[in-house]
Amino acid sequence: MRTKILLATSNRGKIKEITHILEGLDLELVTLDDYPGLQLPPEAGSTFRENALIKARAASAEAGVAALADDSGLEVDFLGGRPGIYSARYAGAEASDRDNWLKLLKELEGVPVEKRTARFRCVVALVWTGGVEESFEGSLEGVIASEPKGTNGFGYDPVFFIPGTGKTAAELTPNEKNSLSHRAKALEKLKNSLEKRYKKS
Ligand code: IMP
Repeated sequence: MRTKILLATSNRGKIKEITHILEGLDLELVTLDDYPGLQLPPEAGSTFRENALIKARAASAEAGVAALADDSGLEVDFLGGRPGIYSARYAGAEASDRDNWLKLLKELEGVPVEKRTARFRCVVALVWTGGVEESFEGSLEGVIASEPKGTNGFGYDPVFFIPGTGKTAAELTPNEKNSLSHRAKALEKLKNSLEKRYKKS
């Protein structure tokens, strides 16, 4: 029987990206749709890794299969790493993506470009039924722009300028972003690790 891994996220975009990266491995990927009623716990940890592990542990314990979860966010150096794990709710519990980046631009008003360095970080956690835990991390360095540009992507993408590309993340095509994103890098590490054990023969 093939080993099952539950993708413990309700974000369709993430499910698509994870499935795409892990296709070709001898694994059966299932989603929360296969486990109706399974509720993920709140992200009560103090790091991306803790939050990803909290979700993967709970999903694995409840479903009785291995589970994978991720957590990600934006760290701005001038703000001592904020918004960090609070990225999704930076401007409040009901805040939109726009509210969040507007708040960020306001906080960085007048701050010179060399002090606007930032990075997206992502941790993917995998918890096996025996209790073994693994985690993989990826990051993407950038600079917070002084005004938004571009309409692709989500979250802080319009204000996240990536020097290597000369564009904000919201000006990249989905394929361009997926080739260099923090999430793609973490998932690539996960894939390399799983490939050793689950390569199709
Ligand atoms: P989560 O990992 O789904 O909890 O995402 C946390 C938050 O971090 C998102 O709501 C966004 O605000 C921000 N974030 C994470 N990854 C990205 C990205 O690739 N682009 C823009 N914002 C991101």
